[in-house]
Amino acid sequence: MGSIIFWGIIRTAVLIPILWLGVNYLEFQYWWLLITMAVYGVIIHPAIIQYQRFIEQNKEVILDTLCSSCKYFEETAVLCTKLDVHPTRETIPCDGIEWEPK
Ligand code: SF4
Repeated sequence: MGSIIFWGIIRTAVLIPILWLGVNYLEFQYWWLLITMAVYGVIIHPAIIQYQRFIEQNKEVILDTLCSSCKYFEETAVLCTKLDVHPTRETIPCDGIEWEPK
């Protein structure tokens, strides 16, 4: 999840100067159209795609592991908040010892 935000910030940082320069070559009436399309196409849409991919890759961990029923499991980050470790389908970081029901 952090990488989605990180790359969103990077894309925003790259897009702003490009738009800043680009608007000088367009008539005023097209600025908002260009900015809206660029923000959606370069920042929002890739973030949505990355998020969907993230959910798809972690679907089994979120739905079908011991951690998914534990109160320390943070679904949005696929993270054990007690140990600060990412559980996987094969690995339960605490081996079930720290598990507590939601
Ligand atoms: S405490 Fe154990 S069972 Fe609970 S989320 Fe963390 S690793 Fe998973």
